[in-house]
Parts: sequence; structure tokens; C-alpha cells
Amino acid sequence: MELIILCTLFFIGASFGSLTGVLQYRMCRDISLISPRSFCENCKKTIAIISLIPFFGYFFSLGKCRNCGSSIPVMYPVIEGIWGLVISLSYFITKDITISINLFIFFFITASLSLIDLKCFLVPDKLLLAGSLLFFAGAVIIKNEPVYYPILGAAAGFIPLFIIHLIKPDGMGLGDPKYAAMIGMALGWKGALIAVFFGVIIGGLFGVFLLLTKKASRKTEIPFIPFLTLGAWISWFFSLDIWNLYFL
Ligand SMILES: [Zn+2]
Repeated sequence: MELIILCTLFFIGASFGSLTGVLQYRMCRDISLISPRSFCENCKKTIAIISLIPFFGYFFSLGKCRNCGSSIPVMYPVIEGIWGLVISLSYFITKDITISINLFIFFFITASLSLIDLKCFLVPDKLLLAGSLLFFAGAVIIKNEPVYYPILGAAAGFIPLFIIHLIKPDGMGLGDPKYAAMIGMALGWKGALIAVFFGVIIGGLFGVFLLLTKKASRKTEIPFIPFLTLGAWISWFFSLDIWNLYFL
């Protein structure tokens, strides 16, 4: 039974890994998420269903496009495999399917938005909205929190970054505070403040590092969502410890 659950979770994880790639590719190019079906980047021919199976599809088609024979980057099955392992491992460790699925959805939404910001400096509203609704529902339905709790979390994430945005609009876009509001729904207000704190510190240090090593100038645009995501993950796992250490 355990093995069946682990295999199913691996497959679900790999599917989401593949979906992250699709989301990034299509949202950066403003292509619809539904049609056209996935196509080969080289010959543009629609990819056969069997080759689309996450992780395993790569091996079924021997790593090549069935039409033009161009190779499929090995990164795809590697990333899908890692995603599969992450969710199966999280279940293996927690033995609680709700916790691991909850963690996985959080991981999926935040990683996808980070990748999109990293690749093309975009924070798509559609994905933010979908994430906010999911996290709100997760807080109220799964974690049984009162309705005001995720809303308070969203405010705690949004306000500090929105103030920075008002002071320095070209330094921080509106996408960052909106993103912080979304993760705040999942993390609660303490968790949101910790996530924003670590995001700003890590992002700031990275910016200083780039300036000192002359890899960037003051004008260089640096995507901030990946740093907020790091902060969010730190907060997800350690927010209670951090809070109790410093505020109690
Ligand atoms: Zn092809």
C-alpha cells in the first residue's frame, strides 16, 4: 500500500514538474495554457501523448523528437524526477498525505512564479490569483483557520513591500507586494513577516554582492520573487522557531 502511494505521489510530482516548465515557457511568450498542445521546439510538430508522460515519456521516446529526431534536453526528466522525489519524500517523512500535498502545492506555485520572474521578469496576475485562492482555501478548509487569518497574512506580506514600492517605484514593481500577499495567505501574518524579512535580506545581500563584483550596476533589474520564495520556504519550515526565539 505504502509503495502504491509513493509511486502515485512520484507521478503527481513529476507531472507538476513538467507543468512548471510549460507554465514558464507559455507565460513568458504569452501563449495560451490550453492550446496548442505541446509541440517540438525544433520542428513545431505536436508531441505524441506517450512522449508527454512526465519523466517516463523521455525514455519512451529515447530522448529524441519522434518527428525530426532532435534531442530533448535531459534537464526535463531530471527536473521532473526531482519534483517526483520531493513529494514522495515529504510523504515518506511526514506520513501525512494532507501535509505533504499542502507543502507540495505551496512549493509548486512559488517555484513556478520564481522561474517565470527569473526567466522573463514577469509576475503573471493569473497565477497569483490562482495561488491566492488555493492558499486561502487551504487555510480555511484544510487548516481550519478563521477567515480573517489568511487575510491578515496577506496584509502583513503586502504592506511592507508596498511601502517600498511607493518610495521607490522603479526599484520594486507591484508584482512583489502582490506575491507577498499571496504567500502571506498560506503563512499567516507572523510567517509572512518572516518571509518578507528573509527575502529582503537575502535579495539585498545578493544585490550588494553583484555590485561589488561588478556583475551588475545600480540600473540592473534583479528579479525579486526568487528571494521572496527563499524567504517563504525558510518561513514555512522554521517560522514558529524563529518567532519564539526572538519575540517570546
Ligand atoms: Zn521535432
